[in-house]
Amino acid sequence: MEDATVSPIRLLPYCHKEAERLNIILACDGAASVGQIGHAVAVRLTNSNENARMCCITAIAAEISTHVDIARRAKKLIVINGCANRCASKVLERIQVPYHHEVIISSEGVKKIPTLDFSEEDVIRISDKIAAEALGT
Ligand code: SF4
Repeated sequence: MEDATVSPIRLLPYCHKEAERLNIILACDGAASVGQIGHAVAVRLTNSNENARMCCITAIAAEISTHVDIARRAKKLIVINGCANRCASKVLERIQVPYHHEVIISSEGVKKIPTLDFSEEDVIRISDKIAAEALGT
């Protein structure tokens, strides 16, 4: 008998198979307020847009060929950095892959502080802005 309390998981499109039709989101996931908001923004954008999907920036930094190939073939690359160090953008710049849209969370009215806690309001505000500017939704 099916357990009604367990929600079915939502499978994402396979990035490598479908890169050309996907807006790929790369977030630095830094261990501070701004990095964690960036991660939550990437999750919200992925879950609310059928053609948008997070991909593994660490794998691209490690120059895993599959992931570098995804970055090169993506319909659009949206890069989310926590702060002005721009680590995620620099990963792409180092391997000479151009991106379409860059976000720096600390320039969006959020202070970088040493915490993993963040405000859901900031996540909604920033992800809605990115959706309007970069995804046209
Ligand atoms: S961009 Fe800033 S928050 Fe993100 S990983 Fe780099 S130093 Fe950390």
